[in-house]
Amino acid sequence: MQITRTTPVPMSDVRGWSAETDVLIVGHGCAGASAAIEAARAGAEVLVVEAAGGWGGATAMSGGEIYLGGGTPVQIACGVHDTPEAMYDFLQMATGPGPDEEKLAAYCEGSLEHFDWLVGCGVPFGAGLWTEPSWEAPTGYGLMYTGGENAHPFADRVPAAPRGHIVHMEDKRPGERSAGWMLMKHLAATAERSGASVRYGVRTERLVVDGDRVVGAETVTFGERAFLRARRGVVLAAGGFGADQRMLAQHSPRLSRNRLVGTDHDDGGAIRMGQAAGAAVRHMDAGQVAFPADPALLFRSVLLDAHGRRFINEDTYPGRVGQAALFRQDRQVFLLYDEAINEEVERTAGRPVEPTWVSDDLAELEDLAGIASGVLSDTVEMYNAHAGKGEDPLFHKSARWLRPLAPPYGMLDLRNTPFGIFTLGGLHTSVRGEVLGVDGDPIPGLFAAGRTTAGIPSWGYCSGTSLGDGTFFGRRAGRNAAAV
Ligand SMILES: Cc1cc2nc3c(=O)[nH]c(=O)nc-3n(C[C@H](O)[C@H](O)[C@H](O)COP(=O)(O)OP(=O)(O)OC[C@H]3O[C@@H](n4cnc5c(N)ncnc54)[C@H](O)[C@@H]3O)c2cc1C
Repeated sequence: MQITRTTPVPMSDVRGWSAETDVLIVGHGCAGASAAIEAARAGAEVLVVEAAGGWGGATAMSGGEIYLGGGTPVQIACGVHDTPEAMYDFLQMATGPGPDEEKLAAYCEGSLEHFDWLVGCGVPFGAGLWTEPSWEAPTGYGLMYTGGENAHPFADRVPAAPRGHIVHMEDKRPGERSAGWMLMKHLAATAERSGASVRYGVRTERLVVDGDRVVGAETVTFGERAFLRARRGVVLAAGGFGADQRMLAQHSPRLSRNRLVGTDHDDGGAIRMGQAAGAAVRHMDAGQVAFPADPALLFRSVLLDAHGRRFINEDTYPGRVGQAALFRQDRQVFLLYDEAINEEVERTAGRPVEPTWVSDDLAELEDLAGIASGVLSDTVEMYNAHAGKGEDPLFHKSARWLRPLAPPYGMLDLRNTPFGIFTLGGLHTSVRGEVLGVDGDPIPGLFAAGRTTAGIPSWGYCSGTSLGDGTFFGRRAGRNAAAV
């Protein structure tokens, strides 16, 4: 594999700048676009350089769920009561261990203003609360639970409020016409209207430094190298590192050999550039892990480890289940359900699921799955005994999803199924978007946002926190770079 060098270029080696600007932004996804808007509005000359042929990155592929709360107009219209304090308490539990409490506090306190800011950029939000288990809501809905707020263990500790705000996209189809594309369309248009210039097909490979200060970047366009000067600051907003198997193997081996939810440009280049300039990193082992079965099936089924035992309540956020299945069970999991569940999934989600094995006999399924004799039967016996009373003393699954299983059973073997992943770790930044060095001080002239950084989803994840912190802290990075 060819490794691009990331050691910063000393300014004394630069023979001439091909362009100069106040703020140079690397990457035109949600974080870069938000930084561009705020830097330009602060009066700075802004240049965005994007490696791909157009704006968007992973943002334009995304479901367009943005984690916002504290009593937004969408929440109020849906009859949801929420406060910044409840949002903080929830996120502190759900995104840990090791959340950045200063960032969390800023994010929760600023959430209402950030909603208004997005609306001010033209971003349309849907209306109506969607409560069915799914990754995305159908067109038209504006709000859903996206972090297990209404499930054990969080619902027992903090008043539950849905905070996944969904960008409205007519006739949306995951992967083809996504709500994330609609978000990006408005952010990119606002950035240009605010005066930011954009160049596509320009890949940034190294930072340029004057002493310990970052003063520009070296870029490559169709093989041609150039130096761009940033008089005030460089903002790295170039996504995560899920496309780089070498970095995955180094920092989070369990995330490797899965399916990237992102783009080829999530190659960690910006993180390495920051590190090479002295930046600290955080939570490099963390990742969002999509459980590879329809949430409508997962919530109703019994999820088993390799030994035929349950290990989590199936009705929590499917990304939390995904993390538990990947990081704690090494993907060695099975899903057990019955015909009634499959019919219900077909009725509500329109997608019946073909099991790997079908049998009336749990002993036969034990045999097929390599589970020790009697364990699966014990698991089902206990589950059924309590489910009949609407109880789950082991994992506290909600009564809404509890029903005794009956033969014929279907069992889905997920042991060889790749999970959808993206990385959450990255450069350590301050609440102002400054990149912090290994000794904790800001690196002069260097800012970052989005999945290039460790942000609100520090280890645990809730859908919407990536677009949420990318836009929120992207704004701050842009504003503070402009203020240098
Ligand atoms: C299918 C899917 C659904 C998702 N749904 C949601 C959701 O509903 N809610 C949510 O919060 N998150 C969701 N995510 C995750 C979320 O989309 C991303 O984590 C988020 O968009 C990252 O934003 P970003 O600005 O950091 O990176 P990106 O949007 O990826 O933008 C980074 C940009 O930098 C460019 N770039 C990379 N390297 C360089 C370089 N060296 N030089 C120049 N440019 C470079 C890239 O081409 C890219 O355009 C989803 C992701 C996918 C793929």
